Amino acid sequence: MAKVLIIGAGGVSGVAVHKCAQASDVFSEICLASRTKSKCDAIAAQLSRPIRTEQVDADNVPQLVSLIRDFQPDVVLNLALPYQDLHIMDACLETGVNYVDSANYEPLDEAHFEYSWQWAYHDRFKEKGIMALLGSGFDPGVTNVYCAYAAKHHFDTIETLDIIDANAADNGHPFATNFNPEINIREVTSPGKYWTEKTGFVETKPMEFSKVYDFPAGIGPKKIYLLWHEELESLVPFLQKKGLKEARFWMTFSDNYLKHLEVLQNVGMTGIEPVMYEGKEIVPLQFLKKLLPDPATLGPKTVGKTCIGCLIKGTKDGKPRTYYVYNVCDHQECYREVQSQAVSYTTGVPAMIGAMMVATGTWNGAGVFNMEQFDPDPFMAKLNEYGLPWKEVFSE
Ligand code: NDP
Repeated sequence: MAKVLIIGAGGVSGVAVHKCAQASDVFSEICLASRTKSKCDAIAAQLSRPIRTEQVDADNVPQLVSLIRDFQPDVVLNLALPYQDLHIMDACLETGVNYVDSANYEPLDEAHFEYSWQWAYHDRFKEKGIMALLGSGFDPGVTNVYCAYAAKHHFDTIETLDIIDANAADNGHPFATNFNPEINIREVTSPGKYWTEKTGFVETKPMEFSKVYDFPAGIGPKKIYLLWHEELESLVPFLQKKGLKEARFWMTFSDNYLKHLEVLQNVGMTGIEPVMYEGKEIVPLQFLKKLLPDPATLGPKTVGKTCIGCLIKGTKDGKPRTYYVYNVCDHQECYREVQSQAVSYTTGVPAMIGAMMVATGTWNGAGVFNMEQFDPDPFMAKLNEYGLPWKEVFSE
């Protein structure tokens, strides 16, 4: 039996807390701590078993350390924002507690995300004899596990990887993001990037490349855009051992979303440099976040499905093989189960499973790890058990 400390009380955390509470055979005690304690209490009130709630500023390492010392968790699950990652890792190092997150570190003043800052903690975590599991959401997260599973069971060589993420849904708002607006807009307005064996990583203009992909489960054809996504940074070296030649990440956006984003960008509302307004410094993107709907409130209004998967091409037993592994998640079904839409659900469930893998020692190690470094089978089994069943399609 394990104790989990969950930090952050937004959309993703709400789902992870529900799922940790469901997994009462593993998580005997749950503490939910965030900047705004009333949000923790609101999540706690939805549950059928009691949990502890606390106020914490996750940018304040001494505060985190005293909370960790007091609660003594086996694992800290960081579901605050990427800006907090290093502070929470520092607190875990000081207290000797395992760490799990769902998004890689991003400095507040630079829309730039990569693993180097967190990988730099490897030796210190190793010396302390604790582990950090990075990127235990859906993408990154489940997509990394899908790749490890494909490499383990279905391919002798892997030549191309396309990770494809669709949110075919309507949330009833002219413009709203399905996870933290600031993080979401920083991600989609950044340059794209893909990898080939010949060129290495190649940067593209934001949304420069698009094509139409025909999604399963009645979703049908949708336009997908090439983006940079953090899991490619760890998956490329992992799959190069299998002969990888190309890797890309794609996401759907509606014309309406892109039209709003273009206007907001053109008028400077997505900027992250502070500007002076009536004698006070404000960051336009942070102000925009205040105006946009809170993703945690989108659940009742969002209808449609997400479909996220990996399309992998390579060979098995000397023959060419194409393999598509994916999950389809229905927004309204998620809402009925945990009062949340599917984007938070598809992130919160794997966040809980990652914490479970670490807390139970199913995934075990000292240092900083990405998801594909462990045996994918137990994680894949838990996806089926906890609401994110996956499907496979094979062709030649
Ligand atoms: P939200 O903005 O809904 O929630 C973030 C929570 O963190 C809020 O409760 C916020 O507090 C809290 N928080 C922020 N700063 C601090 C701080 N200094 N101290 C304590 N708490 C703090 O975000 P989401 O739930 O949508 O996303 C959570 C994480 O999941 C993000 O890192 C996001 O990038 C990641 N994510 C990962 C995905 C994946 O597939 N891997 C997909 C989607 C999201 P307050 O309520 O006071 O603002």
